Amino acid sequence: MYQEFQKHLQQTLQEIKDAGLYKNERVIVTPQSSGIKVEGGQEVINFCANNYLGLADNKELIQAAKDRMDSRGYGMASVRFICGTQDTHKQLEKAISDFFGTEDTILYAACFDANGGLFEPLLTEQDAIISDALNHASIIDGVRLCKAVRYRYKNGDVADLEEQLKAAQAQRFRIIATDGVFSMDGNVCPLDKIYELAQRYNAMVMVDESHSAGVVGKTGHGVTELYNMRGKIEIITGTLGKAFGGSVGGFTTGKKEIIDLLRQRSRPYLFSNSIPPMIAAAGLKTLELLTRDNTLQDRLHANTEYFLTRMKAAGFDIKPTQSAICAVMLYDARLSQEFAAALQEEGIYVTGFYYPVVPQGQARIRVQLSAAHTPEQLDKGIAAFVKVGKQMGVIK
Ligand SMILES: *Cc1c(COP(=O)(O)O)cnc(C)c1O
Repeated sequence: MYQEFQKHLQQTLQEIKDAGLYKNERVIVTPQSSGIKVEGGQEVINFCANNYLGLADNKELIQAAKDRMDSRGYGMASVRFICGTQDTHKQLEKAISDFFGTEDTILYAACFDANGGLFEPLLTEQDAIISDALNHASIIDGVRLCKAVRYRYKNGDVADLEEQLKAAQAQRFRIIATDGVFSMDGNVCPLDKIYELAQRYNAMVMVDESHSAGVVGKTGHGVTELYNMRGKIEIITGTLGKAFGGSVGGFTTGKKEIIDLLRQRSRPYLFSNSIPPMIAAAGLKTLELLTRDNTLQDRLHANTEYFLTRMKAAGFDIKPTQSAICAVMLYDARLSQEFAAALQEEGIYVTGFYYPVVPQGQARIRVQLSAAHTPEQLDKGIAAFVKVGKQMGVIK
């Protein structure tokens, strides 16, 4: 059998390559940071990590992880409900609830799992999920795993959402699901209007704060801070893999009974290993750092503003953003790859995004700002974009 299948795979891979869509992984040989070294020795400034607050190589987090590994061991060798729950896990769940102003929290190995295991235990074929068209793949998969009736509304389009909510009155319970920040453009969901509609049409709201927690809102408490809606949303999901330290781990936080039922029924929680104590301890330290003062959040916001202002002035076409994501539009897949390669020659590490990660004809370079970027690194990044942009005829 395999010979035949192999030929099929080789052909598929060749088609991906011919279309200029083949993804190569570049290898980093230093810790994740705003300045990194790649295999071959080149030093580059990193503009494509989810390391929004620069915590991926933070000394206090590393120390907290080391200390907890010494005191609580390496791994749990168990799922949570058998023998995989230590005090550290409970402390982290409490800290996440306090951070978001929610009633309770459940940890997962990743936010992909949190979203994948969210809907199926809560809703049946009698219920409805109304989902933003640009939601993250993990929400889409989570919705697919659930028997609820699916409705989709155009990205951030409250008029369309209202139409879908009207249609969804046919079902018993309704939940609107949205990303907080949409990761390809950097736009924030209109949570205030979504909430209003939810009230009017008797629905609940789920927000994925993966790209917004630590980033959006003056103190980085996410879209619920931005819209002054702390404690009002029924379900929030998020990750420890982005602003919150950049390692692994996900969570769902919200109403007590929802979390309780997820602990009983959510499959990625019941059938997948507990996160290691060191990861939970570093997560705790992250939340302590973020609430101790506002230094990191202020620096991230200032860096983002600085970069956006100068890139727009240089003539680049940038998608409207309210986060630390800056989508530099190039539209053509091949151009986005060549542009990224030329930037790497200049010592700037970015990635071209193209179909299927973004729609056909919407290729771009996604720049992600970090609190760790120095003014000098930002200036070098902007200068390189301008140089390559002129060379390739993207700007004048
Ligand atoms: C990154 C991301 C995830 C996945 O998070 P992991 O913890 O890496 O699995 C889920 N949802 C959104 C919106 C994301 O951006």
